[in-house]
Amino acid sequence: MPSRSNNEQRAGSRSPPTLLRRLRELVDPVALYRQRPGRADDMPPEALIGKGVRFVQRIYRLRVIGLGVGFFCVAAGFMQNPVIWPLWLALFGHGYLWPHVARHWALNSAIPYRAERRNLVIDAAIGGFWIAALNGNLIPSAVIISMLSMDNIAAGGLRLFMRGLYASIAACALGWWLLDAHFLPQSDLTTVLACLPMMALYPLALGKSTYEMSKKLAERSREFEIVSQTDGLTRLFNRRYWESQLIAEFEQRSQGGAGSHQAFLLLLDLDHFKSINDTHGHLTGDEVLRNFSRLLRAALRADDLIGRYGGEEFVVILRDIAPAEALQLSQRLVEAARSTNDENNLYGCTVSAGLVPFSADMEAHFVWLQRADHAMYCAKESGRDRLVVWDASLARRNGAP
Ligand code: GH3
Ligand code: MG
Ligand code: MG
Repeated sequence: MPSRSNNEQRAGSRSPPTLLRRLRELVDPVALYRQRPGRADDMPPEALIGKGVRFVQRIYRLRVIGLGVGFFCVAAGFMQNPVIWPLWLALFGHGYLWPHVARHWALNSAIPYRAERRNLVIDAAIGGFWIAALNGNLIPSAVIISMLSMDNIAAGGLRLFMRGLYASIAACALGWWLLDAHFLPQSDLTTVLACLPMMALYPLALGKSTYEMSKKLAERSREFEIVSQTDGLTRLFNRRYWESQLIAEFEQRSQGGAGSHQAFLLLLDLDHFKSINDTHGHLTGDEVLRNFSRLLRAALRADDLIGRYGGEEFVVILRDIAPAEALQLSQRLVEAARSTNDENNLYGCTVSAGLVPFSADMEAHFVWLQRADHAMYCAKESGRDRLVVWDASLARRNGAP
């Protein structure tokens, strides 16, 4: 029996990540520390370069609002249970200077994204310290904990939330010991009132910022989708996307759906296009391709799916169209290419086209394409600058599908 290689044995002995193990990693401070940003198992630094500037700016705006308003929350607690003046100074510094320092620090580090996550953990630690300085004054302490948790979970998910929580607990314990705090949970009315703006304003600011971010993300993903479907030169559908549409139309037609009329496939190839490149240069060739695609868009219906199949070959799915109309549209296209003016200059290029109706005897979408290619080839053979409509006799004559 063949023996297993060392690698296989090692892979076999490693247990799959169970829910329990994930949970343990999440609550184990040592494991969390090992996974802190900047370790080798994170994204490589080059993938993160430039990443995070917007993240830093977003957190900066939130921090200015949160700490600016949160100042009053802690200050009211300090008035209720008086504290030494250095704590007032520290509170002022945290509320009104730290947001700017944190932003500067993050933006000037190699990977702003990671630096900002570190700043968020520092925020959580300082929050924990304020709870100790407040002697556990219940309302401001609860506000601090909930706002910090909201921040960290929104910015970095459960992992950042747990890191923040540990930092808060550690700093609270340290502060308690340093300040020799006593547990005074009662909040007077002034303290409660001073906490209200924070409770109302901060969730609003965070919600708005999250909403704007998700809106931008949705726009970005729509843009990516369009780019992935579009041919860069002509702005028509690219081959991959167009073919997926052809498959969809084919399948719908095969199942007897997709409109009461017929569907046609039109394949167009510019005649002697290579000579345009050879005579006028590649850039003029590109211009001709763009002009021809403009002509296609102008001549066809809004529902027709126009794609660039490759080089100087274009394809159109004429959906739900009467045979006479499909023929007329295609014929007009060939004539329009022949008589282009200066505005839509094709530099004398004409076009050969093959038109094929959908037919239930085709086993797959590529047979439809093969037939269109065959009809177009016949147009080339019989002198170019014309349209040939595929029919069974054409196929029999040439032995095509
Ligand atoms: P035929 O009438 O038989 O179709 O001849 P043709 O010259 O049009 O066809 P051929 O296949 O010989 O040449 C097509 C040329 O199209 C060759 C290639 O350099 C050119 N071409 C392909 N893609 C592009 C492009 O994006 N821009 C430009 N300018 N030329 C392209
Ligand atoms: Mg050609
Ligand atoms: Mg060609």
